[in-house]
Amino acid sequence: MTAKQYKEELLKALYASHSKKNTGAWRFPGSTTIVFGEGNPDADLLLIGEAPGKNEDEQGRPFVGRSGALLNKVLEIANMHRTDIYITNIVKSRPPKNRKPTPQEIERSKPLLIEQINIIRPKLICTLGSSSLQGLLGRNVQITRERGKIIEFNGIKLLPTYHPAYILRNQKELNTLAQDIITASKLIKND
Ligand code: URA
Repeated sequence: MTAKQYKEELLKALYASHSKKNTGAWRFPGSTTIVFGEGNPDADLLLIGEAPGKNEDEQGRPFVGRSGALLNKVLEIANMHRTDIYITNIVKSRPPKNRKPTPQEIERSKPLLIEQINIIRPKLICTLGSSSLQGLLGRNVQITRERGKIIEFNGIKLLPTYHPAYILRNQKELNTLAQDIITASKLIKND
């Protein structure tokens, strides 16, 4: 069995144990499913967003709406494809009316993400926006201050960058996000 197959099996088992309606991972009332994550289970790069939106809740896949389209575009600029990497969120179900998850809700969702990180063991984590960075570090962050600075999380390099939804509202920062993803692609190659 290859490392990729082994990790795939572990992720499948993890998903099965968390996707059960009443006994699985904590889920927001009104959400229909756990959006677990997808991509290469043996990826060098792990992208972590905030929480599923309406489209993601309907399809059970991360980043399939407008933010996802922008993310795909940025990955293409960096010569990468979603199937090369792994994409997930810190919160695994859709918050009511797409509101921002609270720090308490993030804490309740975090253990599942940590299990995913421990299985995938990527070379690099890129957090998209403040919620996932704040959740992983367990402290308040100002994303404009932290983005682009490489830090460490559980022995893994972490590069914080902007959330694609922020770029949809601030198109002038598109190049910043693209440059961060290019930096990420270089970091995993040089490691
Ligand atoms: N925004 C996120 O943070 N995650 C998604 O999956 C979609 C939109």
